[in-house]
Amino acid sequence: PHELLLYCRPGFEPDLAAELLEKAALAGESGAPRFERGGGFVRFVLTESQPANGLHRALPLASLVFARQSLVALPPLALDRDDRLSAIIDQVADSGWSFEAVWQETPDTNEAKALAGLIKALRRPLEAGLKKRGALRRKAGGRRLHLLWTDGDRVQLGMSFPGNRSDQPGGIRRLRFPHDAPSRSTLKLEEAWHEFVPRDEWETRLAEGMQAADLGAAPGGWTWQLVQRGMQVFAIDNGPMDRRLMATGLVEHLAEDGFVWTPPARLDWLVCDIVDKPARVIDMVERWLVRRWCREAVFNLKLPMKRRWEAVSQGLARLEAALAEAGVVARIGCRHLYHDREEVTVHVRLVA
Ligand code: SAM
Repeated sequence: PHELLLYCRPGFEPDLAAELLEKAALAGESGAPRFERGGGFVRFVLTESQPANGLHRALPLASLVFARQSLVALPPLALDRDDRLSAIIDQVADSGWSFEAVWQETPDTNEAKALAGLIKALRRPLEAGLKKRGALRRKAGGRRLHLLWTDGDRVQLGMSFPGNRSDQPGGIRRLRFPHDAPSRSTLKLEEAWHEFVPRDEWETRLAEGMQAADLGAAPGGWTWQLVQRGMQVFAIDNGPMDRRLMATGLVEHLAEDGFVWTPPARLDWLVCDIVDKPARVIDMVERWLVRRWCREAVFNLKLPMKRRWEAVSQGLARLEAALAEAGVVARIGCRHLYHDREEVTVHVRLVA
């Protein structure tokens, strides 16, 4: 296989393509991104038919901002509508691939949802055919075959590997909206925790009795998540906070400017969902981290501009440089989450 196949939110293909071009070049590989705007995925085809596995490993999914899923892929197939299976099974057999599971997926677009019936009908015969060829097995290193259907006769096959993939169909973490939460934004913080804090560390890193600040807190969707973990929260916002949330007694609401407010003591968490320029948010978070006012932070960078990858990469570079200069060692992650729209979510954790 000589290409990568990456899923993204429809409309963000140019941003993912720009990110891939820059990061592939840094990894010493060259290739060309191919996409249709609104298609919900980007192919990255390596030049001179270089194998794609090296680049796949060099760009771990967790290090990519705009990708929801990352696969090593075969060229797209145009199928005969009277016999879709043969071409698929032949391509797998020719590639020598073996795997433990088969996932059929579509891009995250409305048109593609119409393919659900076809996908369902194909499942059994597809799996039977792949088993017969010895490709679908009980043991195959946890590898998974993905079929990305873009039309009734268009599919692209890709492989995912444990430790470098999303284990959610379509790379989408669907979360149930908690009905007593004051706003839909609540899901952004919950998804961020799933993304950046391993589940077995929630008990220690998102622990009862911890103290947090929520800048731009109203009406309280993010504060609700913090309170749900048993934390005490300084909720900073001029706007009103949800009454029931305030009645928990765990929230102190302060009508102040989140960009200038300073905490009365060192806290565990800083979260911020203020809509403002990325550079302004970064400068504020940087001040918090350099003074060690918190140990971990989750904040969103709003991206109303055209060149979103450039804005993100400049923002992150600015933060990294500032922390390095101050001698602060931190791990920084940044992802375009499913519940993010025109924004990305950044997580920072101080080390030591
Ligand atoms: N995360 C919230 C939730 O889940 O309910 C929603 C936050 S909303 C997107 C942004 C909030 O930031 C608004 O309530 C606004 O009043 C507040 N805000 C804007 N500028 C602010 C500032 N300088 N300081 C504090 N809050 C600010």
